[in-house]
Amino acid sequence: MKILLVTGESLPYAKSGGLGDFIYSYGKALAKLGEDVSVIMPLYLPMRSKFPEIMEGFYDQFDFKMSWRTQGCGVFMVERDGIKFYFTAMDRFDRDQLYGYGDDTERFACFVMAVNTFITRHNDYDVVHCNDWQTAMLPLLLSYNPKPIKTVLTIHNPAYQGWATRDDLGTFFNLSTGYYDSGFVRLGDSFNYLKAGIMSADKINTVSVTHAQELLSDHTGFGGMGAIIDWCRHYDFSGIVNGLDTDIWDPKTDKHIAANYDLSTVKEGKRANKRAIFKQLGMDEDFDGPLFSAITRLSAQKGVERIISIMPHLEEKNAKLIVIGTGEMEEQFQAEAFKYKNVYLVKRYDEELAHLLYAASDFFLMPSYFEPCGTSQLISMRYGTLPIVSNVGGLNDTVFDVTKGDIANGFTFYNNDYFGCLNAYFRACDLYWAHGIDHMQEVGMKGDYSWKKSAKAYLDLYNTIDWK
Ligand code: ADP
Repeated sequence: MKILLVTGESLPYAKSGGLGDFIYSYGKALAKLGEDVSVIMPLYLPMRSKFPEIMEGFYDQFDFKMSWRTQGCGVFMVERDGIKFYFTAMDRFDRDQLYGYGDDTERFACFVMAVNTFITRHNDYDVVHCNDWQTAMLPLLLSYNPKPIKTVLTIHNPAYQGWATRDDLGTFFNLSTGYYDSGFVRLGDSFNYLKAGIMSADKINTVSVTHAQELLSDHTGFGGMGAIIDWCRHYDFSGIVNGLDTDIWDPKTDKHIAANYDLSTVKEGKRANKRAIFKQLGMDEDFDGPLFSAITRLSAQKGVERIISIMPHLEEKNAKLIVIGTGEMEEQFQAEAFKYKNVYLVKRYDEELAHLLYAASDFFLMPSYFEPCGTSQLISMRYGTLPIVSNVGGLNDTVFDVTKGDIANGFTFYNNDYFGCLNAYFRACDLYWAHGIDHMQEVGMKGDYSWKKSAKAYLDLYNTIDWK
């Protein structure tokens, strides 16, 4: 099967969160299964200097129309790990960040229009697999393609939807405002990219079974997106849990950590990595109490104030907390972190330090209010770091509380329990000081987080689509 994954980000080139992990690791899994897999994504400014090989791989060049404007696009190609990566070079993406600009809906309209043109010029894909709001308009555009192409939309985060105006249908996409007036792409008083994708893709899925159920049963959250899926696309919607890139995330071979380790050497390994990160951050190298961590977008979704709630209790349990994060709540978080000497905040995106912190930590905090799948809890468990999570989405499918006996691999609490996270923190500290975490560490490290099952589930999903 010839598959094109369309995305705003992918490792190793550009990543802001779990989507970047998903594309690269799933792409590699498909290639290993013998599929012909390509990825297409924007060329962001920093990639030009960081990955000079991209600029040597000129592949195509074309113009396309967005209403009265003519937009030029260059395409570069690099082959890596069995995946063909295509990068669209356009002026709107010559910026340092991936997202977060006032004109993001227009930028990604441009990207989608470029990908649509690219597909019509190289019209041999069997499946076009879109991801999140940035690419969600593509299935509708592809419905005009003379060659039938199967389309799938994966929702990695329904909170981000892409809000535009009625007129943008014509201005950006050369489409009739009838799509808005009929309600097809309209949500409230806006033209909603994610809704357009949900209405037009052949199949839709999200990234865990629990989150799929949450969406179908919650008709008010995410602007009513769950209701739209339930009422309009219930039978084409499913949940497939993400796998992890077990080549990149392996404490035995990880080049970014100070000491490699496996299950038999996890204690020594963690001690050495703890010392290394404390030294690097200028903290007390001899500290040997429990180390808690979070590596996250500092946004409301991630339960930032729940993390803050444990700060006053670190000293009494002789524990420390290191957080690597950026996002809209970073100022608030920093103001709190400054108050406590056992808290250290690294306010930047730092992939290498993240590896070291996963390896050094004893516990990983992920008290999200919603979490479609989550990657960090899977990485943590593979590194012998026990996750502390709310019982939502993919966290509910992958983390089992200490009270669950043989399958226990972390700590969970009810999402609507105001003190749940703090209680889990106390339970974790007590178990640490009672030397009781070894079994859970073993269950976590032995878990199968690979793409084996889920990559096949996606292929099955592609195969259930009838040729139009
Ligand atoms: P989301 O996609 O909602 O942000 P996930 O848990 O699925 O959450 O994925 C987050 C990924 O991004 C993980 O691989 C995590 O290690 C990484 N990450 C998040 N913030 C940072 C940061 N500031 N520095 C390094 N890595 C980060």
